Amino acid sequence: MIQKIQKKAMAKINLGLDVLGRRDDGYHQVRMIMQTVELYDLIEIRRREAPGIQVSANLFYLPVNENNLAYRAAKLLMEEFQIREGVSIRLDKHIPVAAGMAGGSSDAAAVLLGVNQMFQLGLSKEELAKRGVALGADIPYCISGGTALVEGIGEVLTALPSMPDCGVLIAKPGISVSTRFVYENLHAETITEHPDIEGQLQALRKGDLKGVAEKMGNVLERVTVPAYPVIGQLKELMQKEGALGAIMSGSGPTVFGLFDDQEKAKAAYRKVKSSGMAKQLYLRGLSGENR
Ligand code: ATP
Repeated sequence: MIQKIQKKAMAKINLGLDVLGRRDDGYHQVRMIMQTVELYDLIEIRRREAPGIQVSANLFYLPVNENNLAYRAAKLLMEEFQIREGVSIRLDKHIPVAAGMAGGSSDAAAVLLGVNQMFQLGLSKEELAKRGVALGADIPYCISGGTALVEGIGEVLTALPSMPDCGVLIAKPGISVSTRFVYENLHAETITEHPDIEGQLQALRKGDLKGVAEKMGNVLERVTVPAYPVIGQLKELMQKEGALGAIMSGSGPTVFGLFDDQEKAKAAYRKVKSSGMAKQLYLRGLSGENR
């Protein structure tokens, strides 16, 4: 009987993010190229005799009840499979919160995988993804990670060739941007300029890092850049410091830049740090199941 499971929940960046439209039920149809990066939360799941789900975290401001995605992921499987025992889940968060890096979704994905394993439910990744999308559009992707094309409302996944390795400078400004605010102000039907996802896919298939970086684009910036100037300023600074490309990840406000030169990446790190524009700043590599 498995008593304890530990998992890494990886953060993601969006190399490309497009929104194609909005369905009648309110869900947005997306087309995104996602990539996991070497930045992660540590998740520990322990089996308990007493029923119920307990969550604790190293950040005092995170909810530890039903509002935590990790809690909801455990509840979803434990109810469906009528598990009479309980679990306690410890979240050691390192992924910036509410940042556009899928922190909550990745935790939820790790819990789905962990509970499936612990109670030997025998669900495949596809079966877990089907359940996970009800909790969040990024969860199916987070279950597999790596480099992937994500379509539909987040449930249609196509694995892609691994992205060539590079340095990723990740800067989260000290502002909060609500995902809801971004999508409500997007007006998907009025978008005329779309990122070149097709061209980016071709570059990826050729292993062309520069081509991928040149084609990076995030359609949500049209809402966030005018509303939060620091996002545009961070992009500009990274580009000036030699990033092959720099865009906002997800619904923001995190900005990341890709570097093929470690020295330039380190210099850019120092410049961004001394600018005071980033509250959290990391220089990492890529990661993923298919690397
Ligand atoms: P995405 O890129 O999927 O939109 P995000 O980075 O914008 O994700 P999260 O870090 O997942 O956003 O968190 C958004 C909100 O969800 C937070 O304000 C937080 O209160 C809540 N939340 C619930 N569960 C978690 C969790 N396990 N980790 C982080 N935030 C969580």
